[in-house]
Amino acid sequence: MIEETVSYSEKHQAIIDAYENGELDGNYWRADEVRPIAAIIRAHYLRQQDGRCCYCDREITTNAYVQHVEHIVCRSTDARFMFTPHNLAVACSTCNGRKNAKAVLTREAVVGYPGSSGAFSIVHPHFDEYEEHISRIGDDIYAPLTPKGTETIKLCELTRFVAERLERGETIEIQQTLSDFYDEINNGSYTKDQNKKLTMFMMKTLKLG
Ligand SMILES: [Zn+2]
Repeated sequence: MIEETVSYSEKHQAIIDAYENGELDGNYWRADEVRPIAAIIRAHYLRQQDGRCCYCDREITTNAYVQHVEHIVCRSTDARFMFTPHNLAVACSTCNGRKNAKAVLTREAVVGYPGSSGAFSIVHPHFDEYEEHISRIGDDIYAPLTPKGTETIKLCELTRFVAERLERGETIEIQQTLSDFYDEINNGSYTKDQNKKLTMFMMKTLKLG
């Protein structure tokens, strides 16, 4: 979970204030004067997230092209939150692209940016602990532990990793990973409820194989 939000220099804050008091437009993100602000946002959250994508939890490489500044509430859906520190994180280009402008709010943000986990249908990198919602089995299998976990897996299409492996014909390896994990969940590191959810998930996934 991200502990510290980005803070802006006076100069950048003035640019942001001018934008927020003017005409709100999601495309402003591409403006020349925004580029250095985006670079600061990207660097800050990469550090906060230990270089990992906020949705697939995998390390993202050092190329700015694959490290996207992620607007959790998409800037094309609600341009008010383009620079809102709690609305910003870093995602890999694939998660960012798959999630795109899909809705993530459980209710409309009328007043301002929602300040709590419950307002979001997906795992929010500022308000939620990833591991409480999604369990990664091996490297490629994402098991949901909560409705938020389910929604995040769906919106960002986190099943893509295991789907690629199935396409490559790695069914047996995947089944092996799952059965190894089956032993692991019975060693007591998960709560009863999580254990039940994981077992159900694995039964379902094994059938797919
Ligand atoms: Zn990702």
